[in-house]
Amino acid sequence: MTRAPRSVARGREVDAASLEAALRAAVSGEVRFDLGSRAAYSTDASNYRQVPICVVVPRSVDDVVATVAACRAHGYPVLSRGGGTSLAGQSCNVAVVMDCSKYLQHFELFPNDKRARVERALADERQDRGKHRRARRLAL
Ligand SMILES: Cc1cc2nc3c(=O)[nH]c(=O)nc-3n(C[C@H](O)[C@H](O)[C@H](O)COP(=O)(O)OP(=O)(O)OC[C@H]3O[C@@H](n4cnc5c(N)ncnc54)[C@H](O)[C@@H]3O)c2cc1C
Repeated sequence: MTRAPRSVARGREVDAASLEAALRAAVSGEVRFDLGSRAAYSTDASNYRQVPICVVVPRSVDDVVATVAACRAHGYPVLSRGGGTSLAGQSCNVAVVMDCSKYLQHFELFPNDKRARVERALADERQDRGKHRRARRLAL
């Protein structure tokens, strides 16, 4: 069930209904306004706790772009999050938190030019597995 967050961003109440409608229309990934998700994303590896306005789990780079555009249009802050391992509260805030870790793990190897295209959330050790066995070790 969706509940309107009572968060205050930039000193004003969040118009959760219009923000939620805009995000759901623009994003193909997950848009979560429920209290459980907001609580789950209220901390990182630090001692800080800030309850986000909502959580977006983008399925694609287009979703990331759409989320930033919707937040910009509505005047709300956006915060990108990977593993949430930051130690000083960098990935928790009263903001629209984007969790890039779930879907943005695409890896593309261009062995001839010794290049790789790596999406935001790819963990280092994945490069050495399966079809990427021939990949050289990269410092990420
Ligand atoms: C036990 C432990 C040991 C550590 N050891 C080291 C170490 O030896 N050396 C070291 O350098 N660090 C170390 N760290 C810090 C940690 O590795 C970094 O905080 C980590 O790289 C953050 O990556 P993340 O994907 O988890 O980002 P998050 O914690 O999710 O976010 C960190 C910051 O990056 C921003 N961010 C996240 N995703 C994006 C994005 N897509 N676009 C733009 N900004 C984004 C966030 O907004 C936030 O400001 C350690 C952390 C832990 C918990």
